[in-house]
Amino acid sequence: MSTSGQNGVSNGKLRVLVIEDNPADADLELGELRRAGFVVSSDLAQSRAEVSAHLDKNTYDVVLADYNLPQFRGMEAVQIIRDKGLTIPLILVTGALKSVTAVECVKQGATDYVLKDHLARLPLCVRRALGETRLREESKEAQAELANKAAELARSNSDLEQFAYVASHDLQEPLRMIATYTQLLAEKYRGRLDADADKYIGYAVEGAVRMQALIEDVLAFSRVGRNGREHVRTESSAALDQALQMLSVAVGESALTVKAETLPLVWADHIQLAQLFQNLIGNAIKFRGASPLQVKVSATRQGTEWIFTVADNGIGIAPEHSEFIFNIFQRLHTRTEYSGNGVGLAICKKIVEQHGGRIWVESAPGLGSSFKFTLPAISADKETTSHEADSRDLVSR
Ligand code: ADP
Repeated sequence: MSTSGQNGVSNGKLRVLVIEDNPADADLELGELRRAGFVVSSDLAQSRAEVSAHLDKNTYDVVLADYNLPQFRGMEAVQIIRDKGLTIPLILVTGALKSVTAVECVKQGATDYVLKDHLARLPLCVRRALGETRLREESKEAQAELANKAAELARSNSDLEQFAYVASHDLQEPLRMIATYTQLLAEKYRGRLDADADKYIGYAVEGAVRMQALIEDVLAFSRVGRNGREHVRTESSAALDQALQMLSVAVGESALTVKAETLPLVWADHIQLAQLFQNLIGNAIKFRGASPLQVKVSATRQGTEWIFTVADNGIGIAPEHSEFIFNIFQRLHTRTEYSGNGVGLAICKKIVEQHGGRIWVESAPGLGSSFKFTLPAISADKETTSHEADSRDLVSR
């Protein structure tokens, strides 16, 4: 970032390009700046070619341009500066300028204008123009830095995901051997060694099986979005049906009612959307309370998106945990209370975010949970409703 001196000039010297056909006027302008404390170095240009040549050869802090020159209009310099990709402020210094014209000139890119019989204003205008330019450049630098950081983060995230994928994929094979052989050991030598040996083998089998499940979950997490399927018009009700089909075993075991209101067409990856419903309803089944489980799936339109709700009447979640549970490997219960590795909701979050949406939960212990997520809507002209019925009982046992 550039450092600036007292007058907002980087090296203490103000470099000025004066576009003026009358050298006496140019002297008056520069004199005014010097009187205000600027140390000025300047060049004089009178034609388009001279302006262009000076801008190519030298660096300037500010351009002072007469509005009307015999062979050139000062405002044309704005375009020349732009065409060269420069950001030097241009101040019109002119004998007379109608206020309408002055406004037009500022609209077209002049930074300010000063009348020749009010030259005392010039130093103030120059200081202001330098300040604005510096601010603009600093904000541009900050934006570029931010964009760099974001790109770096995206790169390191994708490296990490790649690593997680490869590591967990490659770990599967040796782990399969450990699991298989410890299980064989357990079967073949149970009761033939001492009681401690049986216990230790049991622990080893349990550890290997748990690690297999963990690795499968990490793989599932890092697989989300790897196939890069396009988001297309998707019937969210069809995705829900598919999720319920996948859950049929778990659903079959529980007294469960799933009610779905009219669900919309959305831009989505059908498989990911089904997975999202499956994880949320799977959790509703797993974390059900004492009363018969009821799950309600609904969607309401808000602006350019749909807010989906998967609500259950299960054990609920304390509000202080409502963000934490979406992090990978975070869970609120021991494995003996409820099975799981804390990956399901992290997958849900990844799916929703890859669709440009948000996911959150509204809940309280004992009062059930409403998991909510947003998906982009299809614009009204292209939209058709996916279901004739207002509400339907999908599964009721
Ligand atoms: P897992 O279920 O494998 O532990 P998840 O990431 O799916 O992992 O869920 C994280 C935690 O959030 C769960 O351990 C549970 O404590 C809580 N949770 C998720 N869904 C519900 C729900 N429907 N009702 C109550 N608690 C839930």
